[in-house]
Amino acid sequence: MTKLRRAWAAVLCLAAAAAVTAQPLALGVVLVPGGFEAGRQPDGNSLLLQGDQGWLLIDSGRHRAHAEAALAAAGGQVRAVLNTHWHLDHLGGNAWLRSQRPGLEAWASPAVAKALAADGWLDRYRRQLMEAIPTAPADQAAVMRVDLELLNQAAALRPDREIGTASARTIAGRRLQIGIETAVSGGDLWVLDAATGTLAAGDLVTLPVPFMDTACPPAWREALARLSAQPFQRLVPGHGPVMSRADFERWRGGFEALLDCADQGLHPGACAAVWRSRVDTWLDDAGRARVNGMLGYYFKTLLQAPTEQRERFCRRP
Ligand SMILES: [Zn+2]
Repeated sequence: MTKLRRAWAAVLCLAAAAAVTAQPLALGVVLVPGGFEAGRQPDGNSLLLQGDQGWLLIDSGRHRAHAEAALAAAGGQVRAVLNTHWHLDHLGGNAWLRSQRPGLEAWASPAVAKALAADGWLDRYRRQLMEAIPTAPADQAAVMRVDLELLNQAAALRPDREIGTASARTIAGRRLQIGIETAVSGGDLWVLDAATGTLAAGDLVTLPVPFMDTACPPAWREALARLSAQPFQRLVPGHGPVMSRADFERWRGGFEALLDCADQGLHPGACAAVWRSRVDTWLDDAGRARVNGMLGYYFKTLLQAPTEQRERFCRRP
């Protein structure tokens, strides 16, 4: 439990929620930007794609304000949601959306139902929260309660349609190419909208650092090579600003350099400096301030941990 406490203490400072402003990227393509304000857990980026039958929302965020902004940007006409993976900053909004849109179709990989099932990752997390909240400081307890309330509605977070293989599909009347990887969460969908050359990458691409809480880094390298082979012009990362193809390749170069640095046994601070030098143009002050702490944590728990611990997310059944 102290470990959970430490993780929370690291993100908490002053509570502040910025307004979410949707941004059109192309015809029928709208970004609903995520956020990572001090004192809150993050929301991932969401992407709205307009089809003949309404809008498809890719990722629903964690906080209600994010889901509300997404539904408003679609004029209330969200027909389907596709969750790139089961982390709550991409999945939590499903519960509120279903309450507003009873016929909503929810698409996700089989890893979502697995994480929510008894003794899955999210179910274990729910029990940790229940145990920690009564004795946590008020500000930390308030943040934990956001996640606990979502996990108490597990049925509303589960998909009704599963995508287990790479495939071309029409959702909400829009033709899409969908890929699946395992590197970040055990079931990471990406979506290519060929009509506009827009790729929603989920947490395969994130800032201020790659989020490695449940990651298999070697598989992640391979996944990025497959993303690189897709015919996209713009890439919407799970967290951070929209990227051009050149931006993505620069980010990917930074990712490779970070992993190489870790593999060579170099000091986490030195590797963080290598990473920052590659991605600095996309970092704001808050992001810059987070890089060393987050990477230090991932070096200790994953990248430079003993072999068994380092590969624990590489053996997912
Ligand atoms: Zn995320």
